Amino acid sequence: MMKPEVVLLDKARKPGGRVSTKVSQVSGARFDIGATMFCDQMEVNWMGKVSSYNLFEIWKTCGVKIDTKPIYDLHHHYPTLGMESIVGSMLVDKTYKQSMTLKSLSQTNENEWSLNFHSHLENQSTEMVTNKVFLTLPIPQIVSIFESSDIEPKLDRWIKFLQPYNEYRKTLVSFLSWKDWKPNFESFGLKPEEPIPVSTILDRGEDWEYQSWESIKYPMDLTKGDGSSLLVQFSSLFSETHFDPWMDAEKKPNSFYQEMLIQGVNEKWSAPPPDEIWNHRWKFAQTQMPLLGREGALQLDKEEFAEWKSLCQETGITILGDWLFGSKLERIVGGVYFLAHNDLL
Ligand SMILES: Cc1cc2nc3c(=O)[nH]c(=O)nc-3n(C[C@H](O)[C@H](O)[C@H](O)COP(=O)(O)OP(=O)(O)OC[C@H]3O[C@@H](n4cnc5c(N)ncnc54)[C@H](O)[C@@H]3O)c2cc1C
Repeated sequence: MMKPEVVLLDKARKPGGRVSTKVSQVSGARFDIGATMFCDQMEVNWMGKVSSYNLFEIWKTCGVKIDTKPIYDLHHHYPTLGMESIVGSMLVDKTYKQSMTLKSLSQTNENEWSLNFHSHLENQSTEMVTNKVFLTLPIPQIVSIFESSDIEPKLDRWIKFLQPYNEYRKTLVSFLSWKDWKPNFESFGLKPEEPIPVSTILDRGEDWEYQSWESIKYPMDLTKGDGSSLLVQFSSLFSETHFDPWMDAEKKPNSFYQEMLIQGVNEKWSAPPPDEIWNHRWKFAQTQMPLLGREGALQLDKEEFAEWKSLCQETGITILGDWLFGSKLERIVGGVYFLAHNDLL
């Protein structure tokens, strides 16, 4: 979807950001620690008219190929190779470079920005000059980069504009895996054998807010179907409270959280102690106040969107991401496609 002349630079070792797939050490099976599924439908409200888009159509138009399976209901899907493979498929034939952390920006002349990166592989600074910058980082990280940059009125204008969108919720995540135990899924209302399996439970506001049986999505070959794996996303309040001590450098829980997790799966699922526990924390998991709305059609007729557009044009910096479209893949992918297609980028 990226135009050929665009170069993507990202600080992580692999592309994907909050769309991230890992592999279980117990079973070798995949699990998604960020987004676990996507919806194929999205809508845009622009110039008083609502238009509907289908993500598969958009990917087809852009030559992006992703092998997916349905999950949860008619409109939700996941890629057979893990959610991260969406990003990999969208980057085929594109130019991108990982392990490049943007540190600061400065203006070399009225129409040109110089970007200062730290390259982790080469352990040195690298300068890039361009007349158009796209930033898709969470807003707190963008603001911090702007504040570390030379004083520049264009960056100040962005900092002021972005203030209402600076709030993100944290999310703590645990992955638990069993070699030779699985729950009686049906007795918990889950439907692993249906043509469209139901593999998740959402208890909004509860500590164990969202539970996704990843072994239903990704069969566990090494355990010959006898094992299972569960991904838990904890509530905003729980995540805020336990964020710092949640895990050690190896992503293992300390003994307090290990006990809490073992007890939790026993109470909820009558599970024995898992063979593997792996924790993760997302500091900027989801934006709270997206400019174009949280749900429903993207509201492009809003005054704030017109301000965003002028700011992009006048500064040569375009800021995209979930803070603009909302924290859903279909809104972000569909939104970027719509903006590009209507010359709004
Ligand atoms: C736990 C969790 C569950 C979710 N579940 C779902 C779901 O089921 N369905 C759904 O549709 N959405 C879900 N989401 C939301 C979805 O994942 C996000 O909305 C989406 O991935 C955000 O994309 P983005 O491009 O805006 O930001 P990101 O994916 O965060 O990308 C930002 C990128 O910027 C890079 N970066 C950061 N700092 C720098 C720097 N200084 N220099 C260079 N690069 C930098 C990062 O490495 C990253 O690759 C979930 C999110 C989380 C955290």
